[in-house]
Amino acid sequence: MTKKPFVTKEQLEEIAKIYPTPFHIYDERGIRENVRALKEAFSWNKGYKEYFAVKATPNPFLIQILREYGCGCDCSSYTELMMSEAIGAVGEDIMFSSNATPAEEFVYADKLGGIINLDDFTHIDFLEKAIGYIPETISCRYNPGGLFQISNDIMDNPGDAKYGMTTEQLFDAFRILKEKGAKHFGIHAFLASNTVTNEYYPMLAKVLFEVAVKLQKETGVHIKFINLSGGIGIPYRPDQEPNDIHAIGEGVRKVYEEVLVPAGMGDVAIYTELGRFMMGPYGALVTRAIHEKHTHKEYIGCDACAVNLMRPAMYGAYHHITVMGKEDAPCDHKYDVTGSLCENNDKFAIDRMLPKIDTGDLLYIHDTGAHGFAMGYNYNGKLKSAELLLKEDGSVQMIRRAETPADYYATFDCFEIGKKLIK
Ligand SMILES: *Cc1c(COP(=O)(O)O)cnc(C)c1O
Repeated sequence: MTKKPFVTKEQLEEIAKIYPTPFHIYDERGIRENVRALKEAFSWNKGYKEYFAVKATPNPFLIQILREYGCGCDCSSYTELMMSEAIGAVGEDIMFSSNATPAEEFVYADKLGGIINLDDFTHIDFLEKAIGYIPETISCRYNPGGLFQISNDIMDNPGDAKYGMTTEQLFDAFRILKEKGAKHFGIHAFLASNTVTNEYYPMLAKVLFEVAVKLQKETGVHIKFINLSGGIGIPYRPDQEPNDIHAIGEGVRKVYEEVLVPAGMGDVAIYTELGRFMMGPYGALVTRAIHEKHTHKEYIGCDACAVNLMRPAMYGAYHHITVMGKEDAPCDHKYDVTGSLCENNDKFAIDRMLPKIDTGDLLYIHDTGAHGFAMGYNYNGKLKSAELLLKEDGSVQMIRRAETPADYYATFDCFEIGKKLIK
């Protein structure tokens, strides 16, 4: 399979006249089609709700699109809660799935009426001290430990993850929370990240549904929802088969009917907290080649850097690159495609076979719609780019301006020297 940009070279050149590169651009049509497919895939479950993982793409304009389809917000920090509140996602439209949580964040989440998902057994006391009581609706994050695998294929290593409670702690937590007045319970687990297989959610569902049945039997609590969290991945590489969300929804339904329905739990709502799957493919980082360097290797230097997209530097993650206008040219040149940071890991691609790149070419870096812009930082004093939305009618809306030096220096505004720095 080849990966196709959702914009043409001509469109991008027009856009770049108004909004200089680099920028992130998002595809409204793709986002809408995908969220519709997700809702359809889980329409068999009456209470189904997606809580978009705000950390993946914290832009209110994009999250508002998802809100039109009834999505809530999965938040894990004070500022994410602020964004949620600003777009009117409050009450049970907030899932607060945090860890190592500061007290003031529990207070704020509770003030907004959000559902609190406890990462740890000790957070029961911590929460009660912070907000003065235990909410009627409460969720606990589960970590069964060990390896999470499908046949011989290890998907991830929950036993090594900092998140969630052990099985024993989960049962104790439910008993204690019930004693303290909780009435409606949720169970949450996130056991594998970026899974490109239709089997992850159904397998996770089986683990959670079975534990839910036991919990209901042994502790007598009412389980209101089971939160499958994030983890559905996207095909970053052109040879990967994308997930089939309908097959995933059906897979979860099957397990639901096998495990929950016979236990008299056919009213349990399924929640998800997808981030990557909702936005990843519908964003791209557009950058221009501004240098060619021939030394021990062939380098293309771009006007974007790891500040705009950190995943390759951070995890060696693959992001496909299309050289705009050269889609059909042979990939007969081997390049390292780099940014300008004084860090040798600032490379969008290493030893990548691409068409011959000339200075001035636009490079389209695919699948940056989730965990892309959001992960950015300001190393080397580099500034974060604008975010643009390609609307369904073909027009372009700026949905975040690019940072200016004044933004970079804003935290010196309380000092004399700040006046010289902020212009
Ligand atoms: C990051 C995260 C998500 C979203 O993960 P994706 O891989 O983007 O789907 C969901 N829930 C929690 C608690 C997370 O930390």
